[in-house]
Amino acid sequence: MNAERIENYPGFPDGISGSKLADFMHRQAVKHGLEILPDEVTTIENKAKFKRVETNQGSFNAKAIIIASGCQRRKLEVPGEDKFLGKGVSYCAICDGPLFKDKVLAVVGGGNAAITEALSLTKFASSIKVIHRRHQLRATKALQEKASAEPKIEFLWDTIVTEIQGDNIMTHLKLQEITTGKLSTLRFDGVFVAIGLAPNTGYLKGNIPLDKAGYIITNDLMETKVPGIFAAGDIRYNSPRQVITAAGDGAIAALSAERFLTQLA
Ligand code: NAP
Repeated sequence: MNAERIENYPGFPDGISGSKLADFMHRQAVKHGLEILPDEVTTIENKAKFKRVETNQGSFNAKAIIIASGCQRRKLEVPGEDKFLGKGVSYCAICDGPLFKDKVLAVVGGGNAAITEALSLTKFASSIKVIHRRHQLRATKALQEKASAEPKIEFLWDTIVTEIQGDNIMTHLKLQEITTGKLSTLRFDGVFVAIGLAPNTGYLKGNIPLDKAGYIITNDLMETKVPGIFAAGDIRYNSPRQVITAAGDGAIAALSAERFLTQLA
C-alpha cells in the first residue's frame, strides 16, 4: 500500500502505485465473491474438527486458513524513537515526505527500502544523509547508482544512531562511528527509519511453528506444520518479499487449501 511506484510487477510497463495495485486486486477479488471483514485477529487455535479464529469482533470457525499478515517495519529501539514519532521520526517517506519541504533529513538503513526512501525524499528535502552501519549497501546496483548520482544524497558509513534528541520535535541525532567509536551529534529536521521488516506473527506464537526470527515455516505447497493452515507472502521464512512472489504464494496456498478441503469432504 505504501509503495509509491512498483516497477517489477508484470503487466504494468510504466509501473503502478502500491495503493492503485492494491485497489485493483481488492476490486477483482470482491467482484468474484470474496467477503472482507476489517478486523484484528488475536489468536488462531487448531481444534480437533476445525480451526478457531478469535478477533476483536468475535470468533469464527474455519476448516482451512491462509495466513498472509505480512511484515511491519523494524524499529531502531533507541531513546527518543517513540517520543518523536510523528514529530520528526517517520517510517514512510511516501506518507510523510511532503511535510519535510526544504528540510535536512536522515535516512537510516542500507537496503532497497532505505535507498528508495532517500530517492523519493529528494523531491522535498534540501539534503539527505543516508546513515548506514556498514560500508557497503545491501540495495540493488541500479538503486545504488541512482542514489550516488543524486546531488542531494550523501552517505555516512559505518555509523549507527544511538539517540534521537529534541524538545517538542526532534532536532538532532546522536551518532557513533562503529570503526573508531567516535561520537557526534548532528542537526536534522527529520529521520526516516528503513532498517528492514519484522513478521506480524505475535498473535500466532505457541499455535503455529515459527522460526527464530518469528517467520512462518512452510513447504513448497505453502503448508505449515498444522494441517489445514497455510501461509503466503512476506510472513514466510525466506520470502523474497516482492509483491509478485507474495501473489504467487497466495495462488499456491489457495490451490493447496482447496485440495485440503476436497480431501476433507
Ligand atoms: P533489508 O534488505 O533487510 O535491509 C535492511 C537494512 O537495514 C540493511 O542495510 C541493514 O544493515 C540495516 N539494518 C538492520 N537492522 C539495523 C539496525 N538495528 N540499525 C541500523 N541498520 C540496520 O530490508 P529493506 O530494505 O526494508 O527491504 C525489505 C525487503 O523489501 C527486501 O527484500 C527488499 O528487496 C524489498 N524491497 C524492494 C524494493 C524494490 O524496489 N523492489 C523496495 C523496498 C524494499 P546490514 O546491511 O548491515 O544488514
